[in-house]
Amino acid sequence: MAKQKTIQAPKGMHDILPEDQKYWRHVMKKSQSLIEDYSFERIDTPIVEPTELFLRSVGSSSDIAEKEIYNFKTKGGDDISLRPEGTASTVRAYLENGMNVRPHPVKLYYIGPMFRHDQPQQGRYRQFYQLGLETIGDASEVVDAELIFLGYKILDSVGLHGYNVHINSIGDQSCRPAYLRALKDFYKNKIKKVCPQCRIRFKKNVLRMLDCKEEGCREVNKEAPPIIDFLDDTCKTHFKRVLEFLDETKVPYILDSSLVRGLDYYTRTVFEFLPEENITAQSAVISGGRYDRLIDMLGGSKTPAAGWAMGIDRVVSEVKAKGISVPEIGIKPRVFLAQLGEAAKKKSLALFENLRKAGIEVKSSFGRDSIKSQLRIAHRLGVKYTLIFGQKEALEGTIILREMDTGIQETLLLTKVVDEMKKRLKK
Ligand code: ATP
Ligand code: MG
Repeated sequence: MAKQKTIQAPKGMHDILPEDQKYWRHVMKKSQSLIEDYSFERIDTPIVEPTELFLRSVGSSSDIAEKEIYNFKTKGGDDISLRPEGTASTVRAYLENGMNVRPHPVKLYYIGPMFRHDQPQQGRYRQFYQLGLETIGDASEVVDAELIFLGYKILDSVGLHGYNVHINSIGDQSCRPAYLRALKDFYKNKIKKVCPQCRIRFKKNVLRMLDCKEEGCREVNKEAPPIIDFLDDTCKTHFKRVLEFLDETKVPYILDSSLVRGLDYYTRTVFEFLPEENITAQSAVISGGRYDRLIDMLGGSKTPAAGWAMGIDRVVSEVKAKGISVPEIGIKPRVFLAQLGEAAKKKSLALFENLRKAGIEVKSSFGRDSIKSQLRIAHRLGVKYTLIFGQKEALEGTIILREMDTGIQETLLLTKVVDEMKKRLKK
């Protein structure tokens, strides 16, 4: 039979190999423990949702809805999408499970894979992981500041420094329309200078032109009127107070009037964590903002909320690139259990479990039959002792203990071996 061709992962999707797991574990563990200290509770939602949920929340003219969504028809004819982000699902779950009657704010977090049919490149994948926080039911500025502060603390705790929070306010439904008119006026005679995508945005959602990553558009955008000049008093006060809170926390921030964020549901505060240097279109590690209208857009009553999401793949790759040392996963073995022959092999599993239960860091290679190759592994692992369990020993109820440094061997009674190992390893 001809050799079968191997199969590749779908474009833009990747495996997380065993050697990388320690970085993932480190980032998750550090962030989760901080988040839980701040009283956020975990929620898990399905990986798929009705497509309508995303069209109604992220907005039909967002990058996500226009080109990035993975949607399909089920056998039953339902229109379903792989989730591109976590906020819409969290709010859907909040409403569906009647969490609106719980004491507010309801503070939730999620961790999981997201899917976007993006152009894959370094730091941009079609399946990627996000960790996100949402504070639902509190309009006050301190919420925005707490979320940003927590993002900053998380990066710090995983060992990443040198990030600035780029922050802006995009106003709300009462002051934004005047700004959108001013933007339309501004772009009207520059339409030839912007990219084809922005020409569409000019008609559909002019605000998003500010967010374009094309070089030519970025040049044009430098001259655009800043939204700050158009905020009404309540939005201006909100923004000012968020900044005052941030001043207290000493989180470094940069006012960035071009920051508008890709999704339609944001109001007032929007922010992104970007490195101090070498900013590219893939540099944001945490992005979020306030979304005071999303809950009513999804059928709830008007409820203020704010949140952010962190791109775990990007954070992990920075942790690796910076050479940050992270704890190893698994035990560092001190004893190796080698076995020879059927009778010994049969009893090895139980012996291994007895040693493990007694807190002895033990490794074994049950599949191997040659004592030479097992001793080679024991040497490579750097264990202090190897227990050699052969055919003869298994029948006699004994086992050989070999001290690896000296090669000195002695015979122990099988019934005494756990206690003897505990004594020698000072357990
Ligand atoms: P970007 O501007 O990089 O496209 P976005 O505005 O689409 O990001 P959000 O939807 O707010 O990003 O997602 C929050 C975070 O998730 C981002 O800051 C980033 O770290 C990460 N992220 C977003 N899209 C991807 C992707 N395709 N691959 C890997 N990480 C991503
Ligand atoms: Mg994007």
